[in-house]
Amino acid sequence: MSDTDYIEGILKGDRTTLSLAITMVESNLPEHTQQAQKIIEACLSYTGKSIRIGITGIPGVGKSSFIESIGTYLTQSGHKLAVLAIDPSSERSKGSILGDKTRMETLSAHPHAFIRPSPSAGTLGGVARKTRESILLCEAAGYDIIFVETVGVGQSETTVRSMVDFFLLLILFGAGDELQGIKRGIMEMADLLVITKADGSNIENTQRATAEYKSALHMFPAPESGWTPNVLTCSALKNTGMEQIWQNILDYKEHTAQNGYFDSCRNKQSLFWMNETIKDTLSNSFYGNTEIQKLLIRLQDDVLNNKISSFIAAQQILNYYFSRK
Ligand code: GDP
Repeated sequence: MSDTDYIEGILKGDRTTLSLAITMVESNLPEHTQQAQKIIEACLSYTGKSIRIGITGIPGVGKSSFIESIGTYLTQSGHKLAVLAIDPSSERSKGSILGDKTRMETLSAHPHAFIRPSPSAGTLGGVARKTRESILLCEAAGYDIIFVETVGVGQSETTVRSMVDFFLLLILFGAGDELQGIKRGIMEMADLLVITKADGSNIENTQRATAEYKSALHMFPAPESGWTPNVLTCSALKNTGMEQIWQNILDYKEHTAQNGYFDSCRNKQSLFWMNETIKDTLSNSFYGNTEIQKLLIRLQDDVLNNKISSFIAAQQILNYYFSRK
């Protein structure tokens, strides 16, 4: 397929072409990277019009059930939804999120939904950059809502936060001590907390937990967005709570559009990703160099045997790298 075939296919909203283009974005082959960049560049003026939503929560909290339920509600309301994933553990577990084809069955069959598993190889930074580029391609293909799903295991939430407009934290009632289960830093990043599985005998528990999380949120400093995060409940099993959650996201968008935060946050993210790409490229060029790899092994031994200080060793190897012809 030529660049033009890709670009025309994406702009027409063709899911197969979009999928193939994302495969190219995810590839590490230099010729693919080059073609991917050309495609992204041509699509760039058609991007940016969606709302990008990060969704996180511990395994078992009900992420895929939630996405299936709210995604069905959104596609039925006329939206086009793309679901991407960042899964730092996927290399080890061969895709613990979105990898299983049986997840999100109804949603994935909907013509207005596009579900893409996490790219499985590479560092978190590398995978994240690819996801960010995939967001752009999905937007060019006409998806007006983008979900970026991540497993709540630490680093990946911060990364996802840096590529979305809105960050939603799913909370499981009774997963250990209610407030301890979720790290403070992650709660502070969230624009909305949603307690899952609010059905059957669990309804009362989730209501009680709502009040507890609301008062816990009061103790956090006011976020830069000027937005007060809310605590809601939902049930993917009964398809309840989805409308309120979506309304909360729309309210956030309106609030931050008015105070200018929506755009300033996206601008900051663009610069952040430019710098991340520079760092990534430099690091790959450095550590991918066979001479450097050999020198590193030698110097590491010297450092461990106290023959040379860490700092001097680093200087020596960097001097060597930058003086190469
Ligand atoms: P994930 O690991 O976060 O993606 O969670 P899943 O969506 O796979 O759900 C984990 C388990 O919780 C599954 O056994 C689901 O059937 C169950 N579950 C998910 N949503 C609900 C819900 O709304 N109510 C109830 N009762 N169970 C749910």
